[in-house]
Amino acid sequence: MDRHLAFVNVPGHGHVNPTLPVVAELVRRGWRVSYATHERFTRAVEDAGATLIPTQTDMPVPPRLTDFDPDRFAGLLEQFVSDARVDVPRLEAHFRQDPPQAVCYGRMSLTGRVLAGRLGLADVALVPVLASNEQFSPFGGFASSIFGPDQPALRRARQAMQDFAAEQGLGPQAHPMTGPPASLNIVFVPREFQPAADTFDERFRFVGPAPGRREDDPGWRPPPGGAPVLFISLGTAFNNRPDFFRMCLDAFGDGPWQVAMAVGERVDPGELGPVPPNVEVRPYFPQPTVLRHAGAFVSHAGMNSTMESLYYAVPLVTAPQMPEQEANARRVEELGLGRRLVPDDLTPQRLRAAVDEVAADERIRANLAAMRTSIREAGGAVAAADAIEERLAADP
Ligand code: UDP
Repeated sequence: MDRHLAFVNVPGHGHVNPTLPVVAELVRRGWRVSYATHERFTRAVEDAGATLIPTQTDMPVPPRLTDFDPDRFAGLLEQFVSDARVDVPRLEAHFRQDPPQAVCYGRMSLTGRVLAGRLGLADVALVPVLASNEQFSPFGGFASSIFGPDQPALRRARQAMQDFAAEQGLGPQAHPMTGPPASLNIVFVPREFQPAADTFDERFRFVGPAPGRREDDPGWRPPPGGAPVLFISLGTAFNNRPDFFRMCLDAFGDGPWQVAMAVGERVDPGELGPVPPNVEVRPYFPQPTVLRHAGAFVSHAGMNSTMESLYYAVPLVTAPQMPEQEANARRVEELGLGRRLVPDDLTPQRLRAAVDEVAADERIRANLAAMRTSIREAGGAVAAADAIEERLAADP
C-alpha cells in the first residue's frame, strides 16, 4: 500500500516549525507526505521532503494584546471558519483522489480537524503548546482567561464553528482550541515540562522539541572572540513592540553582551533609533543556530522558543505578551529555568539585572542541565514518527 500521510496546518512559524523534523523523519522512513498549508511555507515544507498543497487559511495578523478585545478574537475564529469552508471541500476532493492513511493536523487547524472527520481517517493532533485534556487546561479556557466567561461575541464565534461542524456531518467537537483530544496527540514538550502531567493518558506522547536541520543554518555565526551572546525575540506573532526593543537597546547597548535581536516583520528597524555596535538587529534570525551559542535568551516564552532554549540549556528571561505565553513563563519560573518579568513594571535596569542574574545562577544552570536531559530523552521527531506508525499499526 502507498504509505501516504496528510499534514494540515495553520501557516504560523510556531505551528509549522516543530512539525517539519517529524515530516523529515517520516519521509526518511519511506512515507510520502502531503502538507496542506499556505504557500508561504512551500520552501520549508519541500526542504523537509513533503509536497505542499496550498490552502487559503491564513493566520490573521494578531493585534497587540492591549487591542485584543472579544470582538477581534471572535473575528479571528470566524475567519478560521470561513477559510475552512473553502479549504475543507478542496482538500477533501484532493485527498479522496490521493488517499492518505492519517490526517495529522496542527492543534489550531479547524480545517485539519474537520477533514480528518470527513475522511474518517486516523486523526493525529500536533500540539505545539502545553497540552489540555478532559481534566486539565493550562489557561482554564483560552478566551475566557483573557476576556472573562460568557462573552456574546465569543459565543457567536463558537456557534459558527459548531454550525460548520454540524454542516459537515460532525459533532460539536470541531473547536480548534478546546475540542476534545485526538486519538493520538503529539506534544512538542517533554512530560517534565507539562503541568498535571499524570492526568495525561496514552493518547498523549510528549516528544519534546526537535530542531532538526535548523541548528546548522549558515545564516548566522557567533561573534569572534567568544563574547557572551544574548538572543532577544518576541517571536513571530505578538511582536509589534518597538518600545520593548528600544528598551533592550538601552539595557544592553554598552556591552559586554553581544546581542542578536529579532524584531519581527512588523517593526521597522529604522524606528528604533541608533543601534549600538554590539547589537545586531534583523527581522528574523535562525533561532536554533543562535541559541546553540547563547548565554541567555530574552523571550516572549512562546512554546517553541521556550523549548528551543531549554534544548540548548539557555537560561530564559521571559516577557510574555499573551496568556498562553504567560502560562509558559510561569512554568519556566516554577521549574527554576529562568525569570519572568512583569511587562508593566519593566525598565532597562531591571531587564539587564535579570539577564545578568539568570546567566550567573548556579541553581538555574543545574535545573537547565536536568531539563536538557529530559528533552533529549523525550525522543523528538523519531519518537513522534514511532507514535504515528504505532497508531496506524493499531488501527490501520
Ligand atoms: N523563530 C526564528 N527566528 C526568529 C524568530 C522566531 O527562527 O527570529 C522561530 C523559532 O525558532 C520558533 C518560532 O519561530 O520555532 C516561534 O515560535 P514560538 O512558539 O516561540 O512563538 P510564536 O512566533 O508562535 O509567537
